[in-house]
Amino acid sequence: MLNIILIGAPGSGKGTQSELLAKKYNLLHFSTGDALRAEMHSGSALGKEIEAIITKGNLVPDAKMIALIENFFDNLPATCKGVILDGFPRTVDQAKALDEMLAKRKLNAVLIELLVEEKELINRMLFRGQTSGRADDTPEVIEQRLRVYHEQTAPVSTYYLKHGQYSAVNGMGEIEDTFRQIDRIVEYGC
Ligand code: ATP
Ligand code: MG
Repeated sequence: MLNIILIGAPGSGKGTQSELLAKKYNLLHFSTGDALRAEMHSGSALGKEIEAIITKGNLVPDAKMIALIENFFDNLPATCKGVILDGFPRTVDQAKALDEMLAKRKLNAVLIELLVEEKELINRMLFRGQTSGRADDTPEVIEQRLRVYHEQTAPVSTYYLKHGQYSAVNGMGEIEDTFRQIDRIVEYGC
């Protein structure tokens, strides 16, 4: 299986690049943000809990997220050629749990971080907010999401730098440029 983990700040383009990779390599794209939003829109009790967290720009508790990913791995279709994780891990504890989940299943993964400057992240999210209908693409919530990113998610990069395989690409350019860089890492490891 070809498994890819894309990390990066909110608005860094994980979703866009994941879709391109999923198409090229016929992989299963799992976006935690999309999964949480689907639950939110279902109107379930859990969805309401999630909504309260997401609309404030905070993170859903690790235990819930880890259970979600574990469940995803437990229910992969037999034909699955590989997966792309988009939006997980977002904390060091999630990264540690993911390492265990992969090891338990004897799976490898390529980890790639998308690097984008903060100003550009904000511009992208504000632009997306004009059409996305996402309650968290607003100036106040974006500010909180970036704060949470610096406090809780940025340490994930350091964790992978120390403990595993880590590659990064410049995500500031055009979608195709970023994709070419990612694709080279996936194909040739550099
Ligand atoms: P991008 O624009 O790069 O696709 P994003 O950060 O804008 O990413 P999502 O990945 O869709 O947006 O996440 C939206 C929200 O869902 C987060 O702000 C957070 O509240 C919640 N969420 C998603 N993944 C996780 C996770 N692994 N742990 C905790 N909360 C999560
Ligand atoms: Mg996304």
